[in-house]
Amino acid sequence: MSATIISGSLIASKFREELKQRVKILSETWMQPGLAVILAGDNPASCVYVRNKAKTCEELGIRSEIFNFPGDISQKTLLQQIQDLNVNPEIHGILVQLPLPGHIRIDEVIAAIAIGKDVDGFHPCNVGALVTGHALFHPCTPFGVMKMLAEYDIPLQGQHAVIIGRSNIVGKPMALMLLEKGATVTVCTSRTRDLANHTRNADIVVMAAGKANLLTSDMIRTGATVIDVGINRLPDGRLCGDVEFSGVKEKAGYITPVPGGVGPMTIVMLMNNTIEAAERAKAVALAGGWHSSVQ
Ligand code: NAP
Repeated sequence: MSATIISGSLIASKFREELKQRVKILSETWMQPGLAVILAGDNPASCVYVRNKAKTCEELGIRSEIFNFPGDISQKTLLQQIQDLNVNPEIHGILVQLPLPGHIRIDEVIAAIAIGKDVDGFHPCNVGALVTGHALFHPCTPFGVMKMLAEYDIPLQGQHAVIIGRSNIVGKPMALMLLEKGATVTVCTSRTRDLANHTRNADIVVMAAGKANLLTSDMIRTGATVIDVGINRLPDGRLCGDVEFSGVKEKAGYITPVPGGVGPMTIVMLMNNTIEAAERAKAVALAGGWHSSVQ
């Protein structure tokens, strides 16, 4: 029997309608939410991602500002730009498009973003808050995956989730979010011995390795939920995930496609976080600002 396809595109379009309403309320009662995106260099994939983010902002009524710097930008200039945005009251979310050029110290750049504007959820304080189950912002890609699982009522408590990949932006936060929901979590890496031995025991497999066709049907158990975060470009130019889709979909219970799966959810979660940041800023402003609440 063929798996149920979890369409990220469909779920994302439903979310977009809700987000538009929240933007409308903010714009009518206070101000338009604003997202700043910093791009350094001309990595083609990054340029496409940034364009898509700006387009989605426009569709939802969010103000977006793109700061496009040359690849040889200095650390100091980048940090100064972030400081300016941190104190700009019309900007509620700041996103630094990764990867950054090799000479830039990424950790220092991420740590410079004001925590309340860290809509990617990568600031070390937000990462720490995620570990304790109190994240201010959830990193967008794994957050999108959680929404997809919830939308299809896929049980998590007591389920065995196996994640392939341990990056700071996908694998690790994914593991924390699934743990928080009561799943038993295994994280595999390129060093894991006998990957299939782990994936065959999984109720849920999340692929985030960036390796085309890494997961094949013999590596899962019948009825498993398979979430494909991977985005890979084939030699003929087509996009594919980390899952050998045609075979795995015949054995899985649920599966996400690439494209049209996790990708559209990631961008919607970024918009959600930006709107949430603006809603919090509004609440603070209406309460008289940080100063009066502290004094
Ligand atoms: P990354 O930083 O390169 O991390 C890849 C992880 O996969 C690493 O932990 C690596 O292990 C592990 N890995 C690589 N080959 C493996 C193998 N053969 N077996 C087991 N583990 C293996 O990548 P990322 O940033 O997390 O992104 C992962 C994929 O998701 C990429 O294709 C990326 O384009 C895609 N992505 C998609 C979205 C979206 O919105 N859909 C968002 C972000 C990323 P080691 O740590 O041992 O090297």
